[in-house]
Amino acid sequence: MDGAQAGGVTAPLLPVLQRRIAAEGPITVAAFMADCLLHPEHGYYRTREAIGLGGDFVTAPEISQMFGELLGLWAADYWQKLGCPDRCYLVELGPGRGTLMRDALRAARALPAFRRAAQPLLVEASERLREMQHRLLAGEMAQWHDDIAALPTDAPVIVLANEFLDALPVRQFQRGDDGGWHERRIALAGDGSSLCFMLDPRSLPFEELLPPELRDAPHGVIVESSPAVRAVASEIAARLRKQGGAALFIDYGYDRPGFGETLQAVFRHAYADPLAQPGLADLTAHVDFISFARAAQRGGAGVWGPVGQGAFLASLGISMRAAKLKQQAAPGKAADIDRDLQRLTAPEEMGTLFKVMALTAPEAPQPAGFS
Ligand code: SAH
Repeated sequence: MDGAQAGGVTAPLLPVLQRRIAAEGPITVAAFMADCLLHPEHGYYRTREAIGLGGDFVTAPEISQMFGELLGLWAADYWQKLGCPDRCYLVELGPGRGTLMRDALRAARALPAFRRAAQPLLVEASERLREMQHRLLAGEMAQWHDDIAALPTDAPVIVLANEFLDALPVRQFQRGDDGGWHERRIALAGDGSSLCFMLDPRSLPFEELLPPELRDAPHGVIVESSPAVRAVASEIAARLRKQGGAALFIDYGYDRPGFGETLQAVFRHAYADPLAQPGLADLTAHVDFISFARAAQRGGAGVWGPVGQGAFLASLGISMRAAKLKQQAAPGKAADIDRDLQRLTAPEEMGTLFKVMALTAPEAPQPAGFS
């Protein structure tokens, strides 16, 4: 067999992974995730129409223009708190279709001096999504970078990142019957035609991998740890210390350590087996906001939150924005705006599962939305 079937489509990444595992032995969950999402030829973000109604999942900026607009105003407000510097970088990490940045920049025009000062920069790994962002942001003088390390260092940065951290690879560990922690890996199943999880028999030094709260975790528990997420926290913290500014991260995640296994695959708006169709389904993991915050603090940043997305958007005035849009809406469209508002803020929808955390330079002013 040369590929897994997914809705009539074959997964061309499967034979690539099979060869890799045959050569190297079982691979970590993080290596699997990285290949599935960003393999140069067959990675999900490089080949698939991921985001939006016709894709696999819908994100907050795709639900309503209110989301990006309020984040644009949040950025403009922080620029004022920084003392209205002549220049700053408005950075978005993982911009998807570019909708958030488009809406943020439109809202930012309410403060023309901010719009003039702010240079939009997008950090995007997928060439395909970059092209889409280019089209949507024509005329905005935006620039693109491959990774955070390539961003310029000569002015304050205001960073926005929605559903970026959940796309970064996680490692998984399970506490074995021997009391030691073992890495979960992905191996070839039975006849070699499909993939399965296995537990590495070697046990690993706990301290380097996992937060101290898990020291007495029960046997059998699976936990996740993301060096890539912590690296983003450290890198952004270092920039905020040197350049000044603030960074806003919004994602689904948890705010206590050791939450369990959260790796999930989504294919055409439905959950799927993460190993069944590598490269064809989106793969994400919930964000461990506590480990993220600790890494940022170690890097010297101020940390705000996490607060629920519902409370955050409410405190930025989303109800007022919705009321205004309803006044201007075509007959029959007001109900859609109410429904979008509910989706973004209600506790049973995105309001509490999605969390918002801000990082700032140390001793810097408090960003809006965290009171
Ligand atoms: N923020 C968007 C898209 C979220 S999907 C929205 O809210 O709609 C995740 C985004 O992160 C995609 O644009 C994907 O290509 C990008 N991405 C994933 N891993 C990345 C990495 N390591 N470096 C840069 N971009 C990455």
